[in-house]
Amino acid sequence: MARSPKTDPVKEARKRARKRAKEAREDGCLKHFDYMEEKGRFGVSKVKCKCGQTLQELRPIPEMQETERVKGATIIRERVAMFTNAAYTEVVITFADGSKHVTPSCKDCVARGFDLATLDVMYAADMDRWDKEETRGLGKVRWELNADRLAASWKEIPAEERFRE
Ligand SMILES: [Zn+2]
Repeated sequence: MARSPKTDPVKEARKRARKRAKEAREDGCLKHFDYMEEKGRFGVSKVKCKCGQTLQELRPIPEMQETERVKGATIIRERVAMFTNAAYTEVVITFADGSKHVTPSCKDCVARGFDLATLDVMYAADMDRWDKEETRGLGKVRWELNADRLAASWKEIPAEERFRE
């Protein structure tokens, strides 16, 4: 099937999302717009709140450490796991179109609360993250559905109501 020479709505939406992310980054209202750290083959090694507080971290599991002597050299094998600390919580943002988005946050930020402008900037940071993941081939983002969403309200998700995607 021949492709229409007209603009691709998904690409156009991604352009809008990138513009939002760029403006949000330059706005500087989030201390840590880039809230995830990565370590080579381990992938994500640290997740921070957008205020900078560490929420989750890749750490060695002491009980799983193995030491081996091979030809006079000591080889230590460690297994690592993502540890979630006590500051970790999650916030669900409800957008004006009724759709929702879950994002990690620290409990201090939740206690201070978020205005709608801050929620939009936080969401832009998440879209920036999706963009990077998509670029690395980690799945397609439905930009046409996601790029233009604006926050209408938020609430904390209690630990017992959280579920993983
Ligand atoms: Zn925070």
